[in-house]
Amino acid sequence: MEKNIVVIKGDGVGPEIVDKAIDVLNKIAEKYSHKFNLEYVDMGGCSIDKYGVPLTDENLEKCIKSDSVLLGSVGGPKWDKVAPENRPERGLLKLRKEMKLYANIRPIKILKSLEYASPLKESICKDVIDFVIVRELTGGVYFGEHKFEVVNGVRQATDLMVYKEDEILRIGKVAFDLARNLKKPLTSVDKANVLHTSKLWREIMNTLSKEYSDVQYNDMYVDNAAMQITANPSQFGVIVTENMFGDILSDEASIISGSIGMAPSASLSDGSIGMYEPIHGSAPDIAGKDLANPIGTILSLAMMFRYSFGMFNEAEAIEDAVYKAIDEGYRTADIMPKHNMMTYLYKQVRCSEMGDIIVSNI
Ligand code: NAD
Repeated sequence: MEKNIVVIKGDGVGPEIVDKAIDVLNKIAEKYSHKFNLEYVDMGGCSIDKYGVPLTDENLEKCIKSDSVLLGSVGGPKWDKVAPENRPERGLLKLRKEMKLYANIRPIKILKSLEYASPLKESICKDVIDFVIVRELTGGVYFGEHKFEVVNGVRQATDLMVYKEDEILRIGKVAFDLARNLKKPLTSVDKANVLHTSKLWREIMNTLSKEYSDVQYNDMYVDNAAMQITANPSQFGVIVTENMFGDILSDEASIISGSIGMAPSASLSDGSIGMYEPIHGSAPDIAGKDLANPIGTILSLAMMFRYSFGMFNEAEAIEDAVYKAIDEGYRTADIMPKHNMMTYLYKQVRCSEMGDIIVSNI
């Protein structure tokens, strides 16, 4: 197969982790005789430095016309004082909106050999913890009207949260289809006891559940979901929720797998095009030091093969290569046992070494 992939390295650790994912991509191309045409595009702080904006229209167009986008991360303290409408993250929001990437898929898994790195108790980790968060990505409060104003001499701020029923319905279908394919239960998370957007959300999800009678379904309030993810995460199969709740819950959930550096994500549209990125940010504290964990990015690439290209063997080859590296004891600093006994079982490696080991495992 031949595919056109836009690669956005971004800022901070972005270039280091994306370089390793590209090594993996090249190995897959060689092994399975595919041709991947890569186009490198700037977004985020590096684009602000070059072009004055976080994403130029020309680069946006390249992303829209591609078969898929691989992204590192954007942002960093250098651009903290940039005007809000021109911050690095605005490039990301623009890309999500313009590429119509409304479904964010974030798998959460605790590997047996990484249980020690999880902040959860051993008694909780012993159960199989393997679930997926489906987060609505282009609606809700992040995309509503934001304003500062002074009313009767007092400053006030407003962020408007809006959901249209078709937005809820389409993300609901993605989640129900995924739960059906994975043969896992679905939990819809909302705040229907307080928010009108959540009342509409719950009503539509419940109606949809009747069409998917083979999928075990329940509703849960977001405050309870935040507790359940740490107290009893093995109960979850697929979680579907709106944009801001999903942002918060998926970061909480990612840390139970040991490190934010391990967690991949896919952002999907109605077509096959998607954007694939680790869930972490640009990690400015470790940028340029060859310390970052590239696994979240490499597993995101595996998701690209599975969700956008339908290349399941290639996706599995990447995932198996990652799990083999972990099982063999290779650890980047973030997942190295800290005060632990038996550190002789593990070998601490740099970002570049971890990438090379994964490539050699394919
Ligand atoms: P962060 O995810 O960058 O870092 C949080 C902590 O996790 C840091 O200690 C960091 O060293 C560590 N970490 C992150 N990725 C790692 C990896 N691959 N390997 C090892 N350790 C890793 O979050 P932050 O510090 O809140 O944000 C830094 C910048 O990134 C900010 O400018 C923020 O706006 C931006 N950001 C970008 C994205 C994105 O590009 N999608 C997402 C979140 C934050």
